[in-house]
Amino acid sequence: MYKLKKSGIRKLLAMLCVVFIFASGIYVSVPTFAQTETKESAISVSSDTVEKGDKFSITVDIKNNPGIWGLKFKVGYDHSALTLTSAKNGNVFDNEDATLPSALDKEEFIYLAYLNSLKNNTTDGTILTLEFTAKNEAEFKPYIIAINVEQAINVNGDDIALKSNNGAVSVVKCVHVSDTKWESDADTHWHNCKYSDCKEKILKTVEKHTVEVIPAVSATCTEDGLTSGKKCSVCGYIIEKQQVVKATGHTSVKLKAVKATTKREGLTSGRKCSVCGETLVVQQVIPKITYKMKKAAKTNGKIKMYKKKKQSSKVVQNVKKGEKVTIVDMDKTWYLIKYKGKVGYVKSTSITWNAKVNVTKGNLRIRTGAGLKYPIISSRPNATKVSVVGRTANGWYKVQIKEKKKTIEGYMYSKYVK
Ligand SMILES: [Zn+2]
Ligand SMILES: [Zn+2]
Ligand SMILES: [Zn+2]
Repeated sequence: MYKLKKSGIRKLLAMLCVVFIFASGIYVSVPTFAQTETKESAISVSSDTVEKGDKFSITVDIKNNPGIWGLKFKVGYDHSALTLTSAKNGNVFDNEDATLPSALDKEEFIYLAYLNSLKNNTTDGTILTLEFTAKNEAEFKPYIIAINVEQAINVNGDDIALKSNNGAVSVVKCVHVSDTKWESDADTHWHNCKYSDCKEKILKTVEKHTVEVIPAVSATCTEDGLTSGKKCSVCGYIIEKQQVVKATGHTSVKLKAVKATTKREGLTSGRKCSVCGETLVVQQVIPKITYKMKKAAKTNGKIKMYKKKKQSSKVVQNVKKGEKVTIVDMDKTWYLIKYKGKVGYVKSTSITWNAKVNVTKGNLRIRTGAGLKYPIISSRPNATKVSVVGRTANGWYKVQIKEKKKTIEGYMYSKYVK
């Protein structure tokens, strides 16, 4: 069997005339080829990118195997840059059908496979795996791993059309590993090599930005807003920067004051924002009006109740002579009186009210004027009835004391008249 094979091969070998073309320095793009070819039968060497000193594997693969009985090919490479360290038969041919050379340092690696049975092998896959080491003397460039099919025949001894594709090993300073971080420019983003002594831009990672709209943020009274913008949803690059929209400021409106009455509290005026509702000037509570006293009195004539302690102020009410009114407070020469539910100021001399002398011992003196310097007219004991007809700024009452035939008029110190 073996002899038969060998004689057959020799015949065929003689017919073969193979021209080797080593296109050294030309990069062989195996992946591109694999994508475009569909049914073509091909035997291809894989490619790799390595650093000096790296160990790596190169495979010789067959695709669209048309049916092989016998195969011989040579693998050539640059021995000054690469060291072949091991060779392993693949899954296409059985180990007993394949012959691998014992010495690996020959100029070309020769692979032989012949089937022990009289049939064709139609398996696709890896024929051979070669392990190399890139030498330190290697240059930074691609090295062709050339394949040369010297014989490919079927069980009938016919030549098989088998395209052969060289591979290449690119020796580089760095076999880049992408950093996870994105780098960006105005149009694109990419990864640099993660190694700090390299940091090279990895071209295959360059992509155009994916534009995403950043929504606008409305400005409020107190906080600035932003216009809408654009960014890349992948790398975060700001394509169109958001512009600050200044805060609008509050829209201040007045809050009316509420008057306090004897029945309810009041409020001072305040301010608030009509947009956001924030209080700008707090309204202060004005307590309910409470009056200090409650003394019955009578008007001396036709009088006017004033809004303020001034005769030029607004008249709250006109009151006829002899009307009953109530004194609720006194302030120097002015009384605050209540009449028919209304409250207003009147001059102390415009009303009369009844009081009594209120001393614990002795008599209370009546003087000609409002002060101790004025001469004493007379004096009266505790509980003497007096009519108060006026009050002075320094706290004296003008009083009248009616007696049998006459009326005494003078001034008493208010502290002792109640
Ligand atoms: Zn790198
Ligand atoms: Zn981007
Ligand atoms: Zn506001």
